[in-house]
Amino acid sequence: MSIIIAKNVYKEYGNQIALKDFSISVRKGKIFSLLGPNGAGKTTFVKSLLHLVNIKSGSIELNGLKVNNPNSRIGVGYLPERFSFFPYYTVEGVLEFYGKIKNISKIQIGENIEKSLDLINISSLAKKKISTLSKGQKQRLGIACLIMGENQLYILDEPFSGLDPIGIKELKDLIIKLRNEEGKTVFINSHILSEVEKISDDVGFINKGVCLTSGEMKEIIGSSSLE
Ligand code: ADP
Repeated sequence: MSIIIAKNVYKEYGNQIALKDFSISVRKGKIFSLLGPNGAGKTTFVKSLLHLVNIKSGSIELNGLKVNNPNSRIGVGYLPERFSFFPYYTVEGVLEFYGKIKNISKIQIGENIEKSLDLINISSLAKKKISTLSKGQKQRLGIACLIMGENQLYILDEPFSGLDPIGIKELKDLIIKLRNEEGKTVFINSHILSEVEKISDDVGFINKGVCLTSGEMKEIIGSSSLE
């Protein structure tokens, strides 16, 4: 069963074509990576999927609903390429904020904050202000915010950028855990094949807005379609 189905999507910014006849489908409970160079159209696809921008033609369904239906975004967590927040908030203050907008009860928020900080290994940063965090630490906080709520689908735009090797390893482990132990779907945008090759079930290759090929990672890598 597919959680995302995009068919023949076109998107332009003025004269600039960002997505051209773009089609993919993402299986529920799997890790899907959309791979392509900078400027290929990956972020535009994610923004179209979340209805943050309007497409010119084609169709996109999320959770079985057209993306112009706000209910399509229930249970969807999105981490943009650069996570930012008001600099004077503390790490736990940001997590509390996310808990509140997810309508989580006060007691549950406290528990979830502890769990999220622990899972992402940033408990020591709880009282720190956002303005004092490194890019990698902010990225980890962004992930912690996502797991504050009960999401079924995690959309991560270039999640490894800015992370040190340990951070990359921990995030990969977390992504695998979300799939294996909790049956979640994870959609990753990346421009580095080696970052996602081992953890992805499925992959789509995009260049200049066109999806060149998509399917199971192990079948596509090593096949002649990219040679
Ligand atoms: P990627 O995420 O793969 O790096 P993007 O989706 O950000 O690619 O960009 C795809 C193309 O659309 C690029 O040529 C980019 O310059 C262009 N683009 C993206 N956002 C805008 C915008 N807001 N206005 C005009 N052009 C844009």
